[in-house]
Amino acid sequence: MKLFRCHACQQLLYFENTRCEKCRHALGFSSEAMDMVTLRPTGLGVFVDVMNPWRAYRYCANAEHQTCNWLLPALSEDIFCEACQLNHTIPDLNIPEYWQRWQKVEIAKHRLVYTLLQLGLFDLTKKDGDRPGLTFDFLADAGTKEKIMTGHDHGRITINISEADDARRIRTREKLGEMYRTLLGHFRHETGHYYWDRLIEPNERRLLRFREMFGDERLDYSEALNLHYQNGPALNWADHYVSAYAGSHPWEDWAETWAHYLHIMDAVETACAFGMRINPGDDVLSAEYVSNPFAIVDFKQVLDMWVPLTIATNSLNRSMGQPDFYPFVIAPPVVEKLSFIHSVCRAVRRRASVQLVPVTS
Ligand SMILES: [Zn+2]
Ligand SMILES: [Zn+2]
Ligand SMILES: [Zn+2]
Repeated sequence: MKLFRCHACQQLLYFENTRCEKCRHALGFSSEAMDMVTLRPTGLGVFVDVMNPWRAYRYCANAEHQTCNWLLPALSEDIFCEACQLNHTIPDLNIPEYWQRWQKVEIAKHRLVYTLLQLGLFDLTKKDGDRPGLTFDFLADAGTKEKIMTGHDHGRITINISEADDARRIRTREKLGEMYRTLLGHFRHETGHYYWDRLIEPNERRLLRFREMFGDERLDYSEALNLHYQNGPALNWADHYVSAYAGSHPWEDWAETWAHYLHIMDAVETACAFGMRINPGDDVLSAEYVSNPFAIVDFKQVLDMWVPLTIATNSLNRSMGQPDFYPFVIAPPVVEKLSFIHSVCRAVRRRASVQLVPVTS
């Protein structure tokens, strides 16, 4: 993610901030500008940009629940921001713990949407002919006999909000041996299924390439998952897959690798924004490359920046007695799969002629 600063006092900001801790100005995120905007209230819920007072904004309607800090143009007919327009069902807000869980869910969702916007993939969240758009159901187990399963079905992504309960999620993570079970990881994984339907399945050339790398997705899905849960992963799964679960079925391999791709791109963007570069290798990286990983053509150059960074951050964590920040080793077949995803995403962005937003503000 980019580095954000308060435009009034230059204080560094987090993406989730609603007020500058230094100068106390109100803040919001404009997805149009892809930047945090420092605001001055003018009454009736309308704010102006302190640097450009002719730009007037309102907060997304979810700001009232403290679940969104994104802005809309003051004259917009929408009441929700682009990220919150994707919500189809939100939890029952009469139950305080649901509201707290929903807040955590929204933090993850907004980060996901930021990266989709940066990648030029956000336009594909809209319905297209028979192909459904992307929507979210944030559901709780209570009141239903059946357990709510986190998953994707024809554009509808369900997130069980109990995943926002840290103790419970960590128990599940230990049980399933998933080193990286996070809310943001769920969002990234499930959108992987959605984008497979939109980017791979309708494009014969990509579909053939997909089958060469990930395998034939026509393999019986429920049977493959049953086998995975009964027998466990193959002993050598790390030679071929980014996670043990990725070995269960080509669709899951794609979704796991997609999630991993978004993890890497977001983390490298953040590292670049903070000017972090550790032994980038012999390749000559131009200033543009260093400031914006989305502009890099060859994904292996992203990895040349990423791998030394992970070693440094793992070492920092170990110095603090913490588990590794990045407990993965990427095998050559996984590099090929990640490179394929990168090339598909770049093709989409070229077609959409998305203007790259510089990482440094
Ligand atoms: Zn400030
Ligand atoms: Zn919103
Ligand atoms: Zn999946």
